[in-house]
This record gives sequence, structure tokens and C-alpha cells, in this order.
Amino acid sequence: MPSFASCFPSRSTSDPLDSFDPLVSSSATVKGCVFCGASREKGFGIVHADDELIAFHDRTPRATVHLLIIPRRHVVSSVRELRNEHLTLLNSMRSLALTLVSSPSKMGFHVPPFSSVPHLHLHVFSGKHTFIGRFKYPISRREKGEKGLGWFVTLDQVEKIIQNGGTVNLGRG
Ligand SMILES: [Zn+2]
Ligand SMILES: [Zn+2]
Repeated sequence: MPSFASCFPSRSTSDPLDSFDPLVSSSATVKGCVFCGASREKGFGIVHADDELIAFHDRTPRATVHLLIIPRRHVVSSVRELRNEHLTLLNSMRSLALTLVSSPSKMGFHVPPFSSVPHLHLHVFSGKHTFIGRFKYPISRREKGEKGLGWFVTLDQVEKIIQNGGTVNLGRG
């Protein structure tokens, strides 16, 4: 099974995707990035593709519905690089998620190093989560819903953080 099959936090240090060069992340495609070349021919279960976004089934679904939504262009490699200027992109990702999944139970991102594919991808879940799904994508919340300490951050939490000029990291948002 190819490594993009799952976003499970991997302890492997030999993953070729880890050697990706962040300096070229603003270009349209990044050599060696499996998500940049996402296509049906390459085995992706694509459910939607337009000029801006591509949506496909996670190869190892952790819930009844488990989609990934990515910007077609590489834009940024992870949620950590998102800034205020990306709010429009996040908005498009949210709209598409709500078009494809009637009532998502959860939408969010892995926070590196707990992200196996360095190309921004939004996880969208609906229905029953598997046991591993509950472990891999836990939502941590503080009193007002801000991000707590954790490796998964919801779309709402990300928007709040970058709207306030902050950046997403493993600690509290
Ligand atoms: Zn992920
Ligand atoms: Zn990419």
C-alpha cells in the first residue's frame, strides 16, 4: 500500500516524502508530492475536481465517510504554514466539504510532524468513526473552543487562529 494511503502519524524516518523541500512550496506542483499528481489514473478515488480543489476518498477510511480535500496547487505543505491570506482558500474547502458531505461530523487537519503527506489536505468525516479514527483525529477544545494541545486541529479552530494573526502548532491555539 502506498504511503499516501494513510495519514497515520508515522515513526518512519525513511519516508521519501519527508525530504520534500519547503522552499518550492509556492510553485504549482512539487516534484515527488503524491497529492500534486492526484488523478484517477493514479488510483485516487476522486469525487470532485475543479480549477482550485480536488476531493477524494482517503485510502484507509477512519469513518463511514472520510474524504480529503486538497488545493490543486501545492500552496502550502501543512496547516502550520497557513496565514491570514489563506482564509479564502479555507472557505472554499469548507464550501466544497459541505457540498460533498451533507453533515460532516468533523473537519480538520493534522499538525506536523503528525501528517504523512506534506501537501495541505482537509480531512472530512461523517458517520461512525472507527476506533483508530477516534484516536487519530481527536478534537481538543478549551473553554471557548480554541485548540488545545494536540495533533489534530479543526477547520474552525484554524480559522480562528489565523484570523487573529497566529499560526497553528502542536500547542494551544
Ligand atoms: Zn492528514
Ligand atoms: Zn503537493
